[in-house]
Amino acid sequence: MPLDEESGRRELLRFVRRGAREGVLRGTFGNVSVRIGQRLIITPTASDYLRLRAGDLARVHLDGTVEEGRPSSELELHLAIYRRLPYAAAVWHDHAPFAVSAALVTDVVPIFTGEGHGLIGLDLPVAPYRPAGSAILATEAAELLQETGARACLLRNHGLCAVGRNLMEAYSCAIAADEASQHYLLTRGMQPQSLDQDEALRIQRSFGDYRMH
Ligand SMILES: [Zn+2]
Repeated sequence: MPLDEESGRRELLRFVRRGAREGVLRGTFGNVSVRIGQRLIITPTASDYLRLRAGDLARVHLDGTVEEGRPSSELELHLAIYRRLPYAAAVWHDHAPFAVSAALVTDVVPIFTGEGHGLIGLDLPVAPYRPAGSAILATEAAELLQETGARACLLRNHGLCAVGRNLMEAYSCAIAADEASQHYLLTRGMQPQSLDQDEALRIQRSFGDYRMH
């Protein structure tokens, strides 16, 4: 069921607080949004996540008009993703350290686990470095997600972004992306065993029908 604005704000607060408590959102880094029809609710610039209130969240039309509040400086990334990916109802962006590290040494991070394939896709692509908050970063990351079909990508020298049909999916996908990066870094130079492609695709399909709420 689509969220109304009030429950969207509540859900968003619940997840950013959870992200802060679980160490996924550190300091004031990162930003999160949820789409409600033609609008999105997004965390404000320089958020103190544990102190954030529903009234601090910004509301922006998908055409880019800021209707209320002071949206995150990385608003463009969220807008570009919602405009290109019709299934997207939540976007999570953070600066997870394993994700940042893996993005420094490869263009594609392989995935080795079922949940990684289910949540993200066959592998985890890396977008080239572009300045944070820039339109080019937003466009290239959204295009990469669209072209590869992956539900998360790494942003070189910066962080990651993850997409979901709701906040639970986007949050889980962000964690899966950082974990896939950690698995890759720990096994790099060894001979890690991947799942075969048929099994990876089977798992991906099974997650396609399964909606985390
Ligand atoms: Zn960032």
